[in-house]
Amino acid sequence: MTDDRTARRVQVRGIVQGVGFRPFIFQLAENYGLHGRVANTAAGVDIHIEGDPAPIDAFIAAIEAQAPPLAQITSVESRAADPDGVSGFRISASRSTSGRATLISPDVSICADCLRELRDPQDRRFGYPFINCTNCGPRYTIIDDIPYDRPKTSMRSFRMCAACQAEYDNPRDRRFHAQPNACGDCGPQVALEDGNGAILNGEAAIHRAAALLADGKIVALKGLGGYHLTVDASNNAAVERLRRRKQREEKPLALMAPSLEAIRSFAWIDPEERDVLTSPQRPIVLLRKRRPHPVAPAVSPRNAWFGVMLPYTPLHALLLAHGFKALVMTSGNLSEEPIAIANTDARARLAPIADALLTHDRKILLRCDDSIVRKTDGVTRFLRRSRGYVPVPVFLRRRQPPVLACGGELKNTVCLLKEDRAFVSQHIGDLENLATYEFFQATIDHLQRILDITPDVLACDLHPDYLSTRYARERDDLPLVQVQHHHAHIVSTMAENHLEGPVIGLAFDGTGYGPDGTVWGGEILTATPGSFERAASLEPVPMPGSAAAIREPWRMAVSYLAHSFGDRYQDLDIPFWGAIDPDQAAILVAMGRQDLNAPLTSSLGRLFDGVAALIGLRHRVAFEGQAAMELEMTIGDDDPGVYDHGWRPGGDRRLIEIAPIIAGVVADLARGVPGPLISRRFHTTLTALFASLCGEIRDQTGLDRVALSGGVFQNAVLSTELARRLARDGFQVYTQRLVPANDGGLSLGQAVAAAAMWADGG
Ligand code: ZN
Ligand code: ZN
Ligand code: FE
Repeated sequence: MTDDRTARRVQVRGIVQGVGFRPFIFQLAENYGLHGRVANTAAGVDIHIEGDPAPIDAFIAAIEAQAPPLAQITSVESRAADPDGVSGFRISASRSTSGRATLISPDVSICADCLRELRDPQDRRFGYPFINCTNCGPRYTIIDDIPYDRPKTSMRSFRMCAACQAEYDNPRDRRFHAQPNACGDCGPQVALEDGNGAILNGEAAIHRAAALLADGKIVALKGLGGYHLTVDASNNAAVERLRRRKQREEKPLALMAPSLEAIRSFAWIDPEERDVLTSPQRPIVLLRKRRPHPVAPAVSPRNAWFGVMLPYTPLHALLLAHGFKALVMTSGNLSEEPIAIANTDARARLAPIADALLTHDRKILLRCDDSIVRKTDGVTRFLRRSRGYVPVPVFLRRRQPPVLACGGELKNTVCLLKEDRAFVSQHIGDLENLATYEFFQATIDHLQRILDITPDVLACDLHPDYLSTRYARERDDLPLVQVQHHHAHIVSTMAENHLEGPVIGLAFDGTGYGPDGTVWGGEILTATPGSFERAASLEPVPMPGSAAAIREPWRMAVSYLAHSFGDRYQDLDIPFWGAIDPDQAAILVAMGRQDLNAPLTSSLGRLFDGVAALIGLRHRVAFEGQAAMELEMTIGDDDPGVYDHGWRPGGDRRLIEIAPIIAGVVADLARGVPGPLISRRFHTTLTALFASLCGEIRDQTGLDRVALSGGVFQNAVLSTELARRLARDGFQVYTQRLVPANDGGLSLGQAVAAAAMWADGG
């Protein structure tokens, strides 16, 4: 021990608990020959380090540079401290400061070390489907309270054997304080239940499940955040049987493949996509189909893409190792219900669909669907942000009051604000049935508990009939701020980009409640978090039959034709009329003119639907956004054509004219121009139109920042081309990378907007 020892106190914030951070610090201190201690605190991790100054500096620099893979450090602060002459380095077991308020890790896919042990016949966990370590395994889905300790997880019912306990207690072991640590002697077990009530355990269960799958059977498989339904993806009859039993007609089914090599046999992977596929989050990645490919046509009919993921639990890895090129891995539910997580529920709900259940006895405490991403404009963007990412917060520009935002109706998520963090929940789903509503309520309770947040303010949509709005209204214990749907979309983009406005906001989606009694969805706003004005919108046209016009895009096509051509709309010599009953069309038009169940909409999503129907892509959709998606997928080669476009003053805002665009499409159809070329010209027209409109708004207001949001921006062609065009025109363009542009990201904007409006009002 020397007298010139110096000491520093280092505080690390972020996701630094439950991710092997203290053993990492322990090892690092030993490597540099330093002394001191490390402890978890409410704020993160607290380190006292002493020794020679140079190794201390190197130690502090290495904390961020070499942090464990699952850690997400938000700050490292150090200051001088008094040396106390300790010898050696130790991990303090102290949880004196209650351990609350720290960030909980998401669920993490099996790591390379565990995978190696899983496949090593000499390892004591050889073939054990619940192997994990401090770098991998379940987290968010097995916790029901904090601090994150085994008794607060569904591992509490398993007592560690001596060998596991020794690993857990040893700071040099890679399972030090790994809360779900287990082995075949002491941990959870798999079981296969087939229709005859026979039960197999362990290896035999997995072998039998694989044999059933190879034989074309449907197996319900208990995963990390819920049950999947799985079949051999190369067996078309099996896939079709699954679709029939699950009542899912056309929506693409996700695939799980054993390796990148296997994926390459049916889809294209570029380097960024490879990195996301193999990341610890293991989302479903949308990949372009190779043609020809060995996957059954029923997996993803009429679609250019496959949704693919790699195995993320040891059980997946063991099952996929049985020679499958890919398994269909779709959510374990009947269409539109939440996925099953409890074994009894799975037996009841999935038994009519599945021929067998491959289950286990580790409880899933919180449901969490697979995340879905797609690369657009060089950036991986969320279509659904859920397993693997939640509950990592979005870090905000400034501290916020505790707000609970209840989200929208479709693709619902909720969001809780705390200090400078926004916690967006996992995907809850479409709030259209009781089971999903119960999941919504359970998620709110669960998140409030594990994040230790008691909200002061509630936020919800303006739509009076959303279940999320009703929930918020019925909770009369808190003040409520209602946020307009498209304003919330734009504030979502602003929040994740640390913008405080004002900005020009382009909010394009299918549906959102407008305070003027019309259905909004093609909105150009000028906005701050606390306020907005409508600078422009699409010209409103009737939606004949209201919700029926969403399911049947041909109704919108008729409405746009009547709007654009008046009484001549049926005289147009286009193929569309060959497939439509003119009397039915006349009824729809009359509904619009007489204002009978035909609300006006300025939705851009509907315009995509209508154009898709006009060019004959489809007249009915099986799921929201299907027609618009197919319009994007059909898009043809480069072509300089642009349809006429423009806008006119409309009282409080500019009205973007529909008629010139529809007239352009109709003229092309009448000339026999093929659909892919019309789709190309339609997209080009929208880009030109929105860019020049933004230019006019900039001239008038001086605003040169543009925020993009809304489900229409899932269209990669429009979002890429519009963002590039705006950037070329000198705008700063902001998009969504941390949460989905669709309604899954709405709760973030709602929360931040409500906080701003609350501050203004109070
Ligand atoms: Zn591991
Ligand atoms: Zn054990
Ligand atoms: Fe929306």
